[in-house]
Amino acid sequence: MKTLDIIVPCYNEAECVEAFYHGVEEALRDVEVEWSIIYVNDGSKDDTLPAVKALADSAGEARVKYLSFSRNFGKEAAIYAGLSHAQGDYTVLMDADLQHPPALLPQMLAAMEEGYDCCGARRVTRQGEPKLRSALSRLFYKLINRVTEMQLVQGGSDFRMMTREVVQAVVSLQEHERFTKGILSWVGFRTKWIDYENVERVAGTTKWSFGGLVRYAVSGFFAFATAPLRLAVWIGMLTAALATVCAVAVFIQALFESGPRTGYATIVLLIMFFGGLIVFLLGVIGEYLARIYAEVKKRPLFIVNDTNIA
Ligand code: UDP
Ligand code: MG
Repeated sequence: MKTLDIIVPCYNEAECVEAFYHGVEEALRDVEVEWSIIYVNDGSKDDTLPAVKALADSAGEARVKYLSFSRNFGKEAAIYAGLSHAQGDYTVLMDADLQHPPALLPQMLAAMEEGYDCCGARRVTRQGEPKLRSALSRLFYKLINRVTEMQLVQGGSDFRMMTREVVQAVVSLQEHERFTKGILSWVGFRTKWIDYENVERVAGTTKWSFGGLVRYAVSGFFAFATAPLRLAVWIGMLTAALATVCAVAVFIQALFESGPRTGYATIVLLIMFFGGLIVFLLGVIGEYLARIYAEVKKRPLFIVNDTNIA
Protein backbone atom coordinates (compact mmCIF):
# COMPACT_ATOMS: atom_id res chain seq x y z
CA MET A 1 0.00 0.00 0.00
CA LYS A 2 1.18 3.56 -0.77
CA THR A 3 2.04 5.87 2.11
CA LEU A 4 0.94 9.49 2.42
CA ASP A 5 2.47 12.14 4.68
CA ILE A 6 0.29 15.14 5.46
CA ILE A 7 2.28 18.19 6.50
CA VAL A 8 0.42 20.78 8.53
CA PRO A 9 2.09 24.03 9.62
CA CYS A 10 0.40 25.22 12.81
CA TYR A 11 0.68 28.59 14.45
CA ASN A 12 -1.83 29.07 17.28
CA GLU A 13 -4.19 26.44 15.93
CA ALA A 14 -5.11 24.64 19.19
CA GLU A 15 -8.78 24.61 18.22
CA CYS A 16 -8.09 23.18 14.79
CA VAL A 17 -5.68 20.34 15.55
CA GLU A 18 -8.28 17.72 16.38
CA ALA A 19 -10.87 18.91 13.88
CA PHE A 20 -8.21 18.62 11.20
CA TYR A 21 -7.39 15.06 12.19
CA HIS A 22 -11.04 14.04 12.07
CA GLY A 23 -11.51 15.77 8.74
CA VAL A 24 -8.66 13.77 7.24
CA GLU A 25 -9.79 10.53 8.88
CA GLU A 26 -13.25 11.02 7.44
CA ALA A 27 -11.98 11.81 3.95
CA LEU A 28 -9.55 8.89 3.77
CA ARG A 29 -11.71 6.27 5.46
CA ASP A 30 -12.43 4.30 2.30
CA VAL A 31 -9.17 5.04 0.51
CA GLU A 32 -6.40 2.49 0.14
CA VAL A 33 -3.53 4.49 1.60
CA GLU A 34 -1.42 4.42 4.76
CA TRP A 35 -1.53 8.03 5.93
CA SER A 36 0.07 9.97 8.74
CA ILE A 37 -0.05 13.62 9.72
CA ILE A 38 3.07 15.62 10.58
CA TYR A 39 2.04 18.66 12.60
CA VAL A 40 4.72 21.35 12.53
CA ASN A 41 4.17 23.59 15.52
CA ASP A 42 5.59 26.92 14.45
CA GLY A 43 6.24 28.35 17.93
CA SER A 44 2.57 28.66 18.88
CA LYS A 45 1.77 30.71 21.96
CA ASP A 46 -1.46 28.82 22.70
CA ASP A 47 -2.06 25.14 23.48
CA THR A 48 -1.31 23.81 20.01
CA LEU A 49 1.58 21.61 21.17
CA PRO A 50 -0.30 20.00 24.09
CA ALA A 51 -3.25 19.41 21.74
CA VAL A 52 -0.98 17.73 19.20
CA LYS A 53 0.70 15.61 21.87
CA ALA A 54 -2.65 14.49 23.26
CA LEU A 55 -3.75 13.56 19.76
CA ALA A 56 -0.51 11.64 19.15
CA ASP A 57 -1.17 9.68 22.34
CA SER A 58 -4.73 8.79 21.46
CA ALA A 59 -4.30 8.21 17.72
CA GLY A 60 -0.88 6.58 17.88
CA GLU A 61 2.52 7.64 16.63
CA ALA A 62 1.97 5.99 13.27
CA ARG A 63 -0.89 8.39 12.57
CA VAL A 64 0.22 11.59 14.28
CA LYS A 65 3.77 12.92 14.30
CA TYR A 66 4.98 16.34 15.24
CA LEU A 67 7.87 18.75 15.08
CA SER A 68 7.89 21.77 17.34
CA PHE A 69 9.90 24.95 16.69
CA SER A 70 11.63 26.91 19.44
CA ARG A 71 9.86 30.06 18.23
CA ASN A 72 7.74 31.31 15.38
CA PHE A 73 9.79 30.94 12.20
CA GLY A 74 6.95 31.40 9.73
CA LYS A 75 4.89 29.13 7.53
CA GLU A 76 7.60 28.76 4.89
CA ALA A 77 10.06 27.42 7.46
CA ALA A 78 7.39 25.05 8.78
CA ILE A 79 6.73 23.73 5.28
CA TYR A 80 10.44 23.21 4.69
CA ALA A 81 10.85 21.39 8.01
CA GLY A 82 7.87 19.17 7.26
CA LEU A 83 9.04 18.36 3.74
CA SER A 84 12.54 17.50 4.91
CA HIS A 85 11.06 15.01 7.38
CA ALA A 86 8.52 13.46 5.01
CA GLN A 87 9.13 9.87 4.02
CA GLY A 88 5.91 8.80 2.34
CA ASP A 89 5.49 7.87 -1.30
CA TYR A 90 3.30 10.94 -1.50
CA THR A 91 3.37 14.09 0.57
CA VAL A 92 0.70 16.74 0.82
CA LEU A 93 0.85 20.27 2.27
CA MET A 94 -2.28 21.45 4.07
CA ASP A 95 -3.42 24.31 6.31
CA ALA A 96 -4.58 23.37 9.80
CA ASP A 97 -7.78 25.41 9.61
CA LEU A 98 -9.54 23.05 7.13
CA GLN A 99 -9.52 25.76 4.47
CA HIS A 100 -7.86 23.14 2.33
CA PRO A 101 -10.72 20.63 2.18
CA PRO A 102 -9.57 17.08 3.07
CA ALA A 103 -12.42 15.88 0.84
CA LEU A 104 -10.12 16.65 -2.13
CA LEU A 105 -7.48 14.17 -0.92
CA PRO A 106 -8.98 11.10 -2.67
CA GLN A 107 -9.09 13.00 -5.99
CA MET A 108 -5.49 14.10 -5.50
CA LEU A 109 -4.38 10.55 -4.73
CA ALA A 110 -6.18 9.38 -7.85
CA ALA A 111 -4.27 11.96 -9.90
CA MET A 112 -0.98 10.69 -8.48
CA GLU A 113 -1.94 7.12 -9.33
CA GLU A 114 -2.70 8.35 -12.84
CA GLY A 115 0.96 9.28 -13.13
CA TYR A 116 1.06 12.97 -12.26
CA ASP A 117 4.05 14.09 -10.17
CA CYS A 118 2.16 16.82 -8.43
CA CYS A 119 -1.46 17.74 -7.84
CA GLY A 120 -2.55 21.18 -6.68
CA ALA A 121 -5.84 22.66 -5.57
CA ARG A 122 -6.94 25.88 -7.22
CA ARG A 123 -9.40 28.21 -5.56
CA VAL A 124 -11.95 29.33 -8.11
CA THR A 125 -13.81 31.73 -5.83
CA ARG A 126 -12.47 34.25 -3.40
CA GLN A 127 -15.72 34.61 -1.50
CA GLY A 128 -15.44 35.99 2.00
CA GLU A 129 -12.19 37.76 1.22
CA PRO A 130 -11.83 41.55 1.25
CA LYS A 131 -12.11 43.03 -2.28
CA LEU A 132 -8.83 44.93 -2.01
CA ARG A 133 -6.99 41.77 -1.00
CA SER A 134 -8.35 39.85 -4.02
CA ALA A 135 -7.50 42.69 -6.38
CA LEU A 136 -3.94 43.02 -5.07
CA SER A 137 -3.46 39.31 -5.20
CA ARG A 138 -4.55 39.20 -8.85
CA LEU A 139 -2.16 42.06 -9.62
CA PHE A 140 0.66 40.17 -7.90
CA TYR A 141 0.12 37.09 -10.09
CA LYS A 142 0.00 39.17 -13.27
CA LEU A 143 3.21 40.99 -12.38
CA ILE A 144 5.20 37.97 -11.26
CA ASN A 145 4.16 35.96 -14.32
CA ARG A 146 5.24 38.80 -16.56
CA VAL A 147 8.66 39.59 -15.12
CA THR A 148 9.91 36.14 -14.08
CA GLU A 149 10.33 32.86 -15.90
CA MET A 150 7.75 31.33 -13.57
CA GLN A 151 4.09 30.88 -14.39
CA LEU A 152 2.00 30.90 -11.22
CA VAL A 153 -1.56 29.66 -11.57
CA GLN A 154 -4.26 32.17 -10.48
CA GLY A 155 -5.77 30.97 -7.21
CA GLY A 156 -3.29 28.08 -6.97
CA SER A 157 -2.77 27.33 -3.28
CA ASP A 158 -0.07 25.64 -1.25
CA PHE A 159 -2.44 22.67 -0.98
CA ARG A 160 -0.27 20.33 -3.05
CA MET A 161 0.29 16.65 -3.17
CA MET A 162 3.62 15.49 -4.58
CA THR A 163 5.77 12.47 -5.17
CA ARG A 164 9.06 11.83 -3.37
CA GLU A 165 10.98 13.17 -6.36
CA VAL A 166 9.18 16.51 -6.16
CA VAL A 167 9.70 16.69 -2.38
CA GLN A 168 13.41 16.07 -2.86
CA ALA A 169 13.57 18.71 -5.56
CA VAL A 170 11.83 21.29 -3.36
CA VAL A 171 14.10 20.49 -0.42
CA SER A 172 17.15 20.79 -2.68
CA LEU A 173 16.43 24.51 -3.01
CA GLN A 174 18.04 25.72 0.17
CA GLU A 175 17.46 29.46 -0.11
CA HIS A 176 16.40 31.23 3.06
CA GLU A 177 13.82 33.62 1.65
CA ARG A 178 11.43 30.88 0.62
CA PHE A 179 8.32 31.21 -1.48
CA THR A 180 6.92 27.70 -1.84
CA LYS A 181 4.43 28.52 -4.59
CA GLY A 182 7.24 29.89 -6.69
CA ILE A 183 9.57 27.04 -5.82
CA LEU A 184 6.94 24.47 -6.82
CA SER A 185 6.54 26.20 -10.14
CA TRP A 186 10.32 26.51 -10.57
CA VAL A 187 11.03 22.79 -10.05
CA GLY A 188 8.59 21.89 -12.81
CA PHE A 189 7.10 18.35 -13.03
CA ARG A 190 3.72 17.36 -14.39
CA THR A 191 1.03 19.01 -12.30
CA LYS A 192 -2.70 18.47 -12.30
CA TRP A 193 -5.02 21.19 -10.97
CA ILE A 194 -8.25 20.51 -9.12
CA ASP A 195 -10.74 23.36 -8.62
CA TYR A 196 -12.40 24.08 -5.31
CA GLU A 197 -14.58 26.74 -3.75
CA ASN A 198 -13.20 28.98 -1.02
CA VAL A 199 -13.98 27.75 2.51
CA GLU A 200 -13.95 29.76 5.73
CA ARG A 201 -11.60 28.59 8.48
CA VAL A 202 -13.27 26.33 11.09
CA ALA A 203 -11.90 28.03 14.19
CA GLY A 204 -9.33 30.59 15.28
CA THR A 205 -8.28 33.59 13.23
CA THR A 206 -6.12 34.17 10.19
CA LYS A 207 -2.41 34.62 10.88
CA TRP A 208 -2.02 37.03 8.00
CA SER A 209 -2.37 40.72 8.59
CA PHE A 210 -2.64 42.91 5.52
CA GLY A 211 0.92 44.13 6.06
CA GLY A 212 2.12 40.56 6.50
CA LEU A 213 0.60 39.59 3.16
CA VAL A 214 2.19 42.54 1.42
CA ARG A 215 5.59 41.63 2.91
CA TYR A 216 5.09 38.02 1.81
CA ALA A 217 4.22 39.10 -1.73
CA VAL A 218 7.22 41.43 -1.90
CA SER A 219 9.56 38.75 -0.59
CA GLY A 220 8.13 36.22 -3.05
CA PHE A 221 8.56 38.71 -5.86
CA PHE A 222 12.18 39.51 -5.07
CA ALA A 223 13.01 35.83 -4.53
CA PHE A 224 12.32 35.20 -8.20
CA ALA A 225 12.47 38.50 -10.03
CA THR A 226 15.72 40.24 -10.87
CA ALA A 227 13.99 42.58 -13.28
CA PRO A 228 14.05 45.55 -10.84
CA LEU A 229 17.84 45.35 -10.73
CA ARG A 230 17.93 45.63 -14.50
CA LEU A 231 15.42 48.46 -14.71
CA ALA A 232 18.15 51.03 -14.01
CA VAL A 233 19.98 50.16 -17.22
CA TRP A 234 16.97 51.16 -19.29
CA ILE A 235 16.02 54.22 -17.29
CA GLY A 236 19.60 55.47 -17.39
CA MET A 237 20.02 54.83 -21.08
CA LEU A 238 16.74 56.56 -21.94
CA THR A 239 17.54 59.61 -19.82
CA ALA A 240 21.03 60.00 -21.27
CA ALA A 241 19.73 59.52 -24.82
CA LEU A 242 16.97 62.07 -24.27
CA ALA A 243 19.51 64.56 -22.90
CA THR A 244 21.71 64.07 -25.96
CA VAL A 245 18.83 64.64 -28.38
CA CYS A 246 17.76 67.79 -26.50
CA ALA A 247 21.35 69.06 -26.46
CA VAL A 248 21.56 68.77 -30.22
CA ALA A 249 18.24 70.61 -30.56
CA VAL A 250 19.39 73.41 -28.23
CA PHE A 251 22.68 73.72 -30.12
CA ILE A 252 20.93 74.09 -33.47
CA GLN A 253 18.51 76.61 -32.03
CA ALA A 254 21.40 78.63 -30.58
CA LEU A 255 23.03 78.89 -34.03
CA PHE A 256 20.01 80.73 -35.40
CA GLU A 257 19.35 82.92 -32.38
CA SER A 258 20.91 86.26 -31.56
CA GLY A 259 20.96 88.04 -28.24
CA PRO A 260 22.51 87.17 -24.83
CA ARG A 261 23.02 83.50 -23.82
CA THR A 262 21.64 82.33 -20.47
CA GLY A 263 23.33 78.93 -20.24
CA TYR A 264 20.22 77.57 -18.58
CA ALA A 265 19.63 74.80 -21.12
CA THR A 266 23.26 73.69 -20.99
CA ILE A 267 23.13 73.18 -17.23
CA VAL A 268 19.82 71.30 -17.27
CA LEU A 269 21.02 69.06 -20.09
CA LEU A 270 24.34 68.33 -18.42
CA ILE A 271 22.59 67.35 -15.20
CA MET A 272 20.20 65.15 -17.14
CA PHE A 273 22.97 63.50 -19.12
CA PHE A 274 25.18 62.72 -16.14
CA GLY A 275 22.14 61.67 -14.09
CA GLY A 276 21.27 59.20 -16.83
CA LEU A 277 24.86 58.00 -17.01
CA ILE A 278 25.01 57.36 -13.27
CA VAL A 279 21.71 55.49 -13.25
CA PHE A 280 22.91 53.45 -16.21
CA LEU A 281 26.10 52.49 -14.37
CA LEU A 282 24.00 51.56 -11.32
CA GLY A 283 22.08 49.27 -13.65
CA VAL A 284 25.31 47.67 -14.78
CA ILE A 285 26.16 47.00 -11.14
CA GLY A 286 22.60 45.65 -10.80
CA GLU A 287 23.32 43.15 -13.57
CA TYR A 288 26.27 41.81 -11.62
CA LEU A 289 24.25 41.85 -8.41
CA ALA A 290 21.51 39.82 -10.12
CA ARG A 291 24.10 37.22 -11.05
CA ILE A 292 25.56 37.16 -7.55
CA TYR A 293 22.03 36.81 -6.16
CA ALA A 294 21.40 33.83 -8.40
CA GLU A 295 24.72 32.25 -7.41
CA VAL A 296 24.33 32.64 -3.65
CA LYS A 297 20.95 30.93 -3.75
CA LYS A 298 22.80 27.84 -5.00
CA ARG A 299 19.75 26.46 -6.72
CA PRO A 300 20.38 23.21 -8.57
CA LEU A 301 21.20 23.69 -12.23
CA PHE A 302 18.63 21.09 -13.23
CA ILE A 303 16.27 18.53 -11.77
CA VAL A 304 16.07 15.10 -13.36
CA ASN A 305 12.62 13.64 -13.73
CA ASP A 306 13.44 10.38 -15.46
CA THR A 307 16.53 8.51 -16.67
CA ASN A 308 17.78 5.03 -17.45
CA ILE A 309 21.28 5.71 -16.18
CA ALA A 310 21.78 3.83 -12.93
N1 UDP B 1 1.03 29.40 9.84
C1 UDP B 1 2.26 29.03 10.36
N2 UDP B 1 3.12 29.99 10.79
C2 UDP B 1 2.84 31.32 10.70
C3 UDP B 1 1.60 31.70 10.13
C4 UDP B 1 0.71 30.72 9.71
O1 UDP B 1 2.56 27.84 10.46
O2 UDP B 1 3.67 32.14 11.11
C5 UDP B 1 0.08 28.36 9.39
C6 UDP B 1 -1.29 28.44 10.02
O3 UDP B 1 -1.31 27.81 11.27
C7 UDP B 1 -2.17 27.72 9.00
C8 UDP B 1 -1.49 28.09 7.69
O4 UDP B 1 -0.17 28.51 8.02
O5 UDP B 1 -2.17 26.33 9.17
C9 UDP B 1 -2.23 29.17 6.94
O6 UDP B 1 -2.43 30.29 7.77
P1 UDP B 1 -3.80 31.07 7.80
O7 UDP B 1 -4.95 30.11 7.75
O8 UDP B 1 -3.78 32.00 8.95
O9 UDP B 1 -3.72 31.88 6.44
P2 UDP B 1 -4.93 32.23 5.45
O10 UDP B 1 -5.68 30.95 5.19
O11 UDP B 1 -5.76 33.23 6.16
O12 UDP B 1 -4.26 32.75 4.22
MG1 MG C 1 -6.43 29.73 6.54
